[in-house]
Amino acid sequence: MELPFAESYRIKMVENLHKSTREEREKWIKEAKYNLFNLKSEYVYIDMLTDSGTGAMSDRQWAAIMEGDESYAGATSFYRLKESIMDITGLEYVLPTHQGRAAENVLFSAIVKEGDYLPGNSHFDTTKGHIEYRKAHAIDCTIGEASDTELEIPFKGNMDLGKLEDVLKSHPAGKIPAVVLTITNNTAGGQPVSMENIRGVSELCHKYGVKLLIDSARFAENAYFIKTREKGYADKSIKEIVREIYSYADYMTMSAKKDGIVNIGGFLAFRDEKDMQKCQMFSIMYEGFLTYGGMAGRDMNALARGLQESMDFDYLSTRIGQVAYLASKLDEYGIPYQRPAGGHAIFVDAKKILTNLPKEQFQAQTLAVELYLEGGIRGVEIGALLADRDPETRENRYPRLELLRLAVARRVYTNNHMDYVAAALKNVYDRRESIRTGYRITRELPVMRHFTIELERVRQI
Ligand SMILES: *Cc1c(COP(=O)(O)O)cnc(C)c1O
Repeated sequence: MELPFAESYRIKMVENLHKSTREEREKWIKEAKYNLFNLKSEYVYIDMLTDSGTGAMSDRQWAAIMEGDESYAGATSFYRLKESIMDITGLEYVLPTHQGRAAENVLFSAIVKEGDYLPGNSHFDTTKGHIEYRKAHAIDCTIGEASDTELEIPFKGNMDLGKLEDVLKSHPAGKIPAVVLTITNNTAGGQPVSMENIRGVSELCHKYGVKLLIDSARFAENAYFIKTREKGYADKSIKEIVREIYSYADYMTMSAKKDGIVNIGGFLAFRDEKDMQKCQMFSIMYEGFLTYGGMAGRDMNALARGLQESMDFDYLSTRIGQVAYLASKLDEYGIPYQRPAGGHAIFVDAKKILTNLPKEQFQAQTLAVELYLEGGIRGVEIGALLADRDPETRENRYPRLELLRLAVARRVYTNNHMDYVAAALKNVYDRRESIRTGYRITRELPVMRHFTIELERVRQI
C-alpha cells in the first residue's frame, strides 16, 4: 500500500481553543454589530480571517529569538537576516521594515511621483493605496481569465503581457518607476504566476528600460506551484526556483507575516546599491536605523530562519495540501468556490449560494455571519463592503464577485479543523434557501470602511 502524505512536523506546544454555543455567538455577533473584525478572538473557534502574522513559529525560530541582538546599530541579527535574504534571492542590499506596507511606503516615497504609472497584476490593496495616495496610477494588467471563478488553469495569477506592453509603449520610461509583479497574486485568490510569465514580464521591462519590483509575500508558495505545475521545473529545488525568480528582479518588497512565517516583520531588497541608497533617508525617517528598521533583533533572527523553513518542499506540500484538502471537501458537498484552490485561502462564491438575497443586503457578509453562527468560524468578506463607495458619486460599488475568504494560517490547524469548517459550511449551504435577509449599514467610515463598519439585520417581511 502506498503511504499517505502526512505533516512534515509534529506539535510541541498547544494553545487551547474555546468552543462556544450558538446562543453565545448570537449575542456576541450582535454586540459586534455583525462585523467579524469587532469580535474578540476568544469568541472565535477557528480563525480564518487572514494568514498574515498568524502562523506558528518552529522550535528553531523560538531558539533564534533567544539569540536576538538588540544593538541599535550593526546588530548581528541584521546580518543574519541579510545573509538569509541574499542566500535565497541573490539580492545584496537589504532594508528591514516593520511589515509589508512599510516597505512599500519607504520604496514608493523614493521612486513614485505624482502622475506616474505602475502597471501590475492585481496590486494588493495597501500597494494600490500607497500608489494612489501619491497621485500615481496602479494599472491592472492581470489576465482576463483570472475573473472567471469556474475556469481551472494552472497560473491564473499571470500578467497579460499584451496589456503590459500597451502601457509600457504609451508612456515614457521616466513616468514608470516600476512594474509591480505580485507572487502569488493575492487579490486574484492566491493564484500563482508562472516562471515563463515572470521571464516575459522581465523581458518587457528590459525592452522599455523599466525596473521590475516583485511584491513577494508568498514567494515560496508561488515557487511550489511552479515546481508542481510548470514544465521543466519538477526536478529543480524550491530554492533554485526562487533564485531564478529573483534573477529577474530589481527590487523586492516583502510582508514577512506571510512566507516569512513570523508574526510581524518585512523588508526591502535591491540589486543595485544606488536604489537602496535612495531609500535610506525614508527608512530612517519612517522605520528606524538601517540595521533594524522597525524590527527587534530577535524578530529579525526568527525571520532569517523562517524564510529558510518556508522553502522546505515537505512543509509547502503540507501547507498547500491542506488548502487543497479543504477544497476537496467543498467539492464533495457541491459548494462553489473560486477554482482552482489557491495557495493560502479558499474563496467561497457567496453570490452562487445566497441567490435569494439582493446584492444591496451584502451576500458575502451574510454568509460570513452565518458561518460564524453555525460553527464559530471567522472568515472575511471580499465583496461590496470591502469595495467601498465610489469616491465621486458616493454610491455603493458592487463588484462582480461576492466572496467569503477562508484563509489558512501556516502550521496552525489540523485537517480535523478543515473537516469541521467544511461541515459547518455544508450546514449553512443546506439551509441556504431559508436565509432570506441580509444586512444594512448603520455606520461607516469614508474609506477602508469594512474594518469598522456597523450593520443591522434587515427584518424579514
Ligand atoms: C500582506 C500583503 C502586503 C502588505 O503587507 P503587510 O505586512 O500586511 O503590511 C503587500 N502585498 C501583498 C501581496 C500582501 O499579501
